[in-house]
Amino acid sequence: MPTIFSRIATGEIPAVKIYEDDATLAFMDINPASRGHTLVICKAEHPDIYAIPSDLLAATAQTVQRVALALRAALEIEGLNIVQNNGAAAGQTVFHYHVHLIPRWTGDHVLRPWAPSTVETAELHAVAERIRAALE
Ligand code: AMP
Repeated sequence: MPTIFSRIATGEIPAVKIYEDDATLAFMDINPASRGHTLVICKAEHPDIYAIPSDLLAATAQTVQRVALALRAALEIEGLNIVQNNGAAAGQTVFHYHVHLIPRWTGDHVLRPWAPSTVETAELHAVAERIRAALE
């Protein structure tokens, strides 16, 4: 069963498209967080950051930058959040790799950033050690 984004990529389901190349597609989010909220997808169906091949990840990143520049030029945005959710625990609802570009204006309060916490330096070292070990 193809994802809804695959069905958009093939044209089976309509979307308000703004850019397309062989590997990627950019279209307007149907429930935008702000004016100009755009999604960039990898056309090939890969669920998340863990699964997407690195060449397609790079292609998607290039389209994200291209659209970011267009948003800045077209909409006089003051800021831009780039959000990419992986897993239901992170808020992902469509399991097909995609990146949100969410234009921001001062005081719009459309996106709540994470709540900073404090941590012991020893804990930072312990966590870093686990991540470094996993990189090997
Ligand atoms: P995520 O929560 O990161 O998986 O984001 C999925 C996004 O896809 C949400 O912001 C939805 O509003 C958006 N979305 C879902 N279906 C469509 C659609 N048919 N056309 C455009 N955007 C969609």
